[in-house]
Amino acid sequence: MSRPTKATINLSAIGHNYTLAKQLQPNSKAVAIIKADAYGHGAKAVASYLESQATLNVDAFGVACIEEAVELREGGIKKPILLLEGFFSADELDYISENNLWTAVHCRQQIEQIAQSQPKQPIHVWLKLDSGMHRLGFEPSAYQAAFEQLAALPQVASVNCMSHFAHADDLDAPQNSQQLATFLEATAGLPQGTQFSIANSAATLGHMAARQHWQRPGIMLYGATPFNHTHNNGDQLQVAMSLTSAVIALHTLEAGESVGYSGTWTAKRNSTIATVAIGYADGYPRHLPSGAPVLVNGQIAPLAGRVSMDMITVDVTGLSGVSMGSPVELWGSNIHANQIAQQADTIAYTLFTGLGKRVPRQYISL
Ligand SMILES: *Cc1c(COP(=O)(O)O)cnc(C)c1O
Repeated sequence: MSRPTKATINLSAIGHNYTLAKQLQPNSKAVAIIKADAYGHGAKAVASYLESQATLNVDAFGVACIEEAVELREGGIKKPILLLEGFFSADELDYISENNLWTAVHCRQQIEQIAQSQPKQPIHVWLKLDSGMHRLGFEPSAYQAAFEQLAALPQVASVNCMSHFAHADDLDAPQNSQQLATFLEATAGLPQGTQFSIANSAATLGHMAARQHWQRPGIMLYGATPFNHTHNNGDQLQVAMSLTSAVIALHTLEAGESVGYSGTWTAKRNSTIATVAIGYADGYPRHLPSGAPVLVNGQIAPLAGRVSMDMITVDVTGLSGVSMGSPVELWGSNIHANQIAQQADTIAYTLFTGLGKRVPRQYISL
């Protein structure tokens, strides 16, 4: 016997979504972004699958830090891995050079550290331009000098150009075209053959890119869009994660009785309450309001009362066939993670990355 709570990860869906990304930007390669344990889906499993499917022809992987890259290399992943924030200290450079990692370079200090290093193999660098997000990267006026300085170093094998959108989830935001223009201007006149990368999922789905050799799809690989509305391309994505559990208790409440911590939900009529084995320690958001949809035995039912650490309660009054052990979907193909995210006033990214460690991931490929 075991707790019925689990996340089923459909690897073929991730493969489908990777292919869709490549089709939407037909002339670009793609760095499949699998930082934060592949947004909670399991980086090693996702990377192994993508790498093993010859038809997908995966180009590279992207992670946030060297620890995430080491986990992949130790797991047998062979494709290049891009460190999206670069290295945090110079002592990472040996590992980077010897293990086919690519590193972002976003500040002068990193250039100096490379200049003083003695890597066994020259390093592949992705030079980051701050085109308007003001988080990481060189100012446009300093960009070409940084490029030339890096390109001239014997420690450097190649320099790609990258930048990142601040407003891509809002495809109509005027800042997007401003950032694109800044990117084009700051990189104008760089040597023939220089490679460029700007698009995240939102930009790929919204066909918003310029001079693009490399796209960097993240959230779309997992079947969610960065948008809070439906979108033609986004609707072709396949959901990768189903978070499911089961009914572990049923209670009959009389009108006027309340359920859960602080009694925030009170029965207006005689009601049947199903208790389900999922809680905020599993990553189900505590601030979801009563009324949020839960799929119980194939039917939508409203969450009733506070989310506890390990359990929730759902109003299943009048639903058919609900009994002990009935299957429950929290998010997946029937209830989209974006739907839950919106009700919890957050984004699917935080639901996926916040999935608790104790939720077993089960992998399927169809
Ligand atoms: C996380 C990340 C991405 C992927 O973003 P999504 O919105 O998940 O597609 C792309 N580029 C960089 C630099 C990132 O940090």
